[in-house]
Amino acid sequence: MSSTADVVIIGGGVIGASVAYHLAARGQKRIVVLDRTQGPGLGSTGRATGGFRGQFSTRVNVQLSLLARDKLTAFRDETGTDPGYRPCGYLFLASNADQLAALRTAAAFQQAAGLRDVREVTPDEVVDLNPAVPRDAVIGGTYCPTDGFIRPLEILRGYLAAAQRLGARVQFGAGWARCLVEHGRVTAVRTETETVATRCVVNAAGAWAGAVAAEAGVEIPVRPVRRQVAVTYPAALLPEEMPLTIFVDDGFHLRVRDGRVLLLWPADLPADDPFDTAFDARWLTPLLDRARAHVPVLRGLQIDRDACWAGLYEMSADRHAVLGQAPGVQGLYLANGSSGHGVMHAPALGHLTAEFVLDGTATTVDVHALRPERFAEGALNPESGVL
Ligand SMILES: Cc1cc2nc3c(=O)[nH]c(=O)nc-3n(C[C@H](O)[C@H](O)[C@H](O)COP(=O)(O)OP(=O)(O)OC[C@H]3O[C@@H](n4cnc5c(N)ncnc54)[C@H](O)[C@@H]3O)c2cc1C
Repeated sequence: MSSTADVVIIGGGVIGASVAYHLAARGQKRIVVLDRTQGPGLGSTGRATGGFRGQFSTRVNVQLSLLARDKLTAFRDETGTDPGYRPCGYLFLASNADQLAALRTAAAFQQAAGLRDVREVTPDEVVDLNPAVPRDAVIGGTYCPTDGFIRPLEILRGYLAAAQRLGARVQFGAGWARCLVEHGRVTAVRTETETVATRCVVNAAGAWAGAVAAEAGVEIPVRPVRRQVAVTYPAALLPEEMPLTIFVDDGFHLRVRDGRVLLLWPADLPADDPFDTAFDARWLTPLLDRARAHVPVLRGLQIDRDACWAGLYEMSADRHAVLGQAPGVQGLYLANGSSGHGVMHAPALGHLTAEFVLDGTATTVDVHALRPERFAEGALNPESGVL
């Protein structure tokens, strides 16, 4: 089967959906979204826990969050769907002076970048915000009340439905889509069943973005990294509106969702297949050691192993998104590498990608720091050990 389109988006996760919606909302016609899975949410978006934060350590990430926050606030009016944004806050906790100094520096920096309501908190305030944290376990932290929670699948469905109402074609079950390039210019996208002639392709392939770009002759350092979530049986031990609480010591963090406590801790999980999303139960032992040490009240809680899950982060070489025109291939745009922040930033990344496609550059936020060329230039964004 052959057809033509003005824009083809490879990937129907939250980022591809947001790109489709923002293009369609600006009047772009003949948009096609192609996804190899059988339905929405079968990539990383359906595995996300739904955290939202502005507390980042680089200006560009803070500003992506601020734009996303504005758009989440207007989401229901724009799309007709409730994105589930609940500003319950993120609480970062320090257990020594170095960590607290780093959080303090980050908070000052975030305020200067426009995140006005972030503030330092004392141990007493920490316990007020989250009574599960032992008073003597921390020396302070930072808290931002407009950070909080969102519903990843609702955001995905809202953007897809709104894009479709505006005329976009969304094709799940399309098989692997490959971007074809001739003489340095995009010419078509080919799947197992159809070829769509086009001059414009957006790579929104999540953890698979590196492979999609490579097929078009573009190298981007985005790789899959497995992340896991442990889930307790339902318990009323901790309140649903408790802030997401992060111990910067080791990155252990927890929140409550739908009456269950979700426990997370980033650890290297070796696997033969880097795209493996099987839950590795060996991770539970060190995770639970941390959980009991940081939050003793969790000692009696049992893990519901059937409810635990794993998924893939789309990790870029500097843990920042890769956004804009692909170097060397005219008509190929990248919206990749969000490094585990793709749901919260999707409203902003879709808006900015539409600007790249329709205006030639993004203007709402200065995203120079996210340009794909930075890797070849050796101008990576700074890594923070804290945020
Ligand atoms: C455990 C876990 C917790 C997380 N928690 C959060 C959180 O709290 N907050 C947050 O913001 N983010 C979180 N994330 C990260 C978030 O899930 C991702 O950043 C986000 O979903 C990326 O969206 P995406 O649309 O790029 O990717 P995806 O949702 O994976 O969508 C990409 C789609 O592209 C399709 N595809 C790929 N290649 C092709 C191809 N060649 N042809 C056709 N289709 C293709 C895939 O099938 C997939 O459906 C979490 C992730 C994990 C794993």
